[in-house]
Amino acid sequence: MTMRPHEAGALHADGYGAAPQWLPYPADVNALLPQLWPEGAHRDAGGRIVVGGVPAAEIAEEFGTPAYVVDETEFRRRARAFVDDFAAGFAAAGVSLDVYYAGKAFLCTQVARWVEEEGLSLDVCSGGEFAVARRVGFPGERLEMHGNNKSAAEIEDALRYGVGRIVMDSFDEIDRVARIATDLGVVAPVMLRVTVGVEAHTHEFIATAHEDQKFGFSLTGGQAARAVERTLAHDSLDLRGLHSHIGSQIFDTAGFEVAARRLLGLHAQVAREHGHHMPELDLGGGFGIAYTSENTPLETGELGARLAAIVAGECEREGLDVPAVSIEPGRAIAGPSGYTLYEVGTVKEVALDGGAHRTYVSVDGGMSDNARTALYGADYSVTTANRAGEGEPMISRVVGKHCESGDIVVMDEYLPADLRPGDLLAVPGTGAYCRALSSQYNHVPRPPVVAVRDGVARAIVRRETIDDILALDVD
Ligand SMILES: *Cc1c(COP(=O)(O)O)cnc(C)c1O
Repeated sequence: MTMRPHEAGALHADGYGAAPQWLPYPADVNALLPQLWPEGAHRDAGGRIVVGGVPAAEIAEEFGTPAYVVDETEFRRRARAFVDDFAAGFAAAGVSLDVYYAGKAFLCTQVARWVEEEGLSLDVCSGGEFAVARRVGFPGERLEMHGNNKSAAEIEDALRYGVGRIVMDSFDEIDRVARIATDLGVVAPVMLRVTVGVEAHTHEFIATAHEDQKFGFSLTGGQAARAVERTLAHDSLDLRGLHSHIGSQIFDTAGFEVAARRLLGLHAQVAREHGHHMPELDLGGGFGIAYTSENTPLETGELGARLAAIVAGECEREGLDVPAVSIEPGRAIAGPSGYTLYEVGTVKEVALDGGAHRTYVSVDGGMSDNARTALYGADYSVTTANRAGEGEPMISRVVGKHCESGDIVVMDEYLPADLRPGDLLAVPGTGAYCRALSSQYNHVPRPPVVAVRDGVARAIVRRETIDDILALDVD
C-alpha cells in the first residue's frame, strides 16, 4: 500500500471549520451510501443498521463490541463478480483468466472455503496463510505462494502439497526453490515477480525506470532477463510466466497498461531469445474500493473489459499468442463486505484555533483493530448503528482507546449531535487489511469476526481473550 501523509489541514483546523474540503456537509447524516455498504444494507424502522439480515445492535448484544462483521453473501458476490463479470471481458477477447484471492487481505478457514466454493484460486504469502489453505484442504493446484523471503521449510511444504505456482523474488530464491524441488524429485511450477517501474495509487501512477523497493526483479539493467535465464537453467523449475503487482487502491487502468506493455516486452524477448513460450501472465491485484463518498471505483465488468483489451492489444503489438492471464484481487473482494462495530465510550468537544470545534468520539477499539488510519492516513466513513441520530451534524473524529494520539479510526466524519456513550458506531469498508493487520497493542484482545447471512450471525473467528494473550507469557 502506498503511504499518504496526514493532511495538516485536517489535523490543524484552519479557522474556517474543522471539516476537510472533500467531505460534504450531509443532507442526511443517517444515510447509508450504497457504494460503502454491502448490497441490501439498510436501516430498519427503528433506525438500526441491518446487514445480511442481521441488525448491528443484535450482533453487539450477542458477540460484544468491537466486532468485525462480514456479509458472507456480499463476499461471495464480489468473488463471483471477478470470476464472472471480470472474466467475461477476457472471454470476449479470447483470453482465459484465473482469479487468485489475495489471502493477505483477510483470511480464515471459513473465508478460504468461500473462496474455494466460488471457484477462485488462492494467493498465500506465508507459511501461516498456507496453513489455513491446508486446513481446509484447498486444492494445491489452485494455490499460489508469494513472498520475498520464503523459508526453505515454507517452500518445501508448498512443493510437497503440490502448489500450482511459486512466485520467485530473488536470485537466491531461484536457486533455493530449484534445490528443494530437486531434493523432492519434483518440477516446481514457478513465476518471476518483475518490478516494471510502475507504482499506481487511486487515479495516478508513476512510471520510473528504477523502483527502490524490496520486491521483484527489475526490468532495467536486464536483471529480470537474467532471472529468466537463471530459472530456465534449472531442470527442476518450470517457468510458467511473469508477474507484476503495481500498487493498491487503484481506480484507473492506465498503470496496468504500462505494466502489461513492459511485462509482455520481456515475455516476447524470452520467446525470441530462448524459444520458451511462457503460458501465463499475472497482473497482480490492487483494484480500488470506496472508503468514503470521494471514491468511485470502476465496476468489475468494466475493469475486466479494459484489462482484457490492454492485454490483447499488447500481445498483438508484440505478435504474441495471448497467455492465460491471472489477477490477484484482495481488497476489492473482502473490503466492502465488512464493517466494524464499536461502542461509544466518551464524547468530547475540543476547541480549535480560529473558533471551530471538533467532537472527539472514543470507541472501545482503535488502532489495534484498524491500523490503516494510523499507518497510511487512510480515510473511512462512520455512522450510528443502533439508531438514527438527530440534531445538526457535527464534525467528528472517531478515536480508539490506545495510548497514542495517532490512534484514530476515522479522521473526519459528520455524526449526529445527539451522539452519546452507549451508542453503536459502524465503520464500513473494513473487511480487508483490518483484522489482517490487527495487533494486541496495549494488550487489547482482538475482536471476533462475525459472519452474517440471511438473517443469521455466527462467529467465524472468535474473540481473543486476555487468557489468549497471557498464554504466551513464560513465568
Ligand atoms: C497485496 C497484494 C495483492 C492484493 O492487493 P489488493 O490491493 O488487496 O487487491 C495481490 N498481489 C500481490 C503480490 C500483493 O502483494
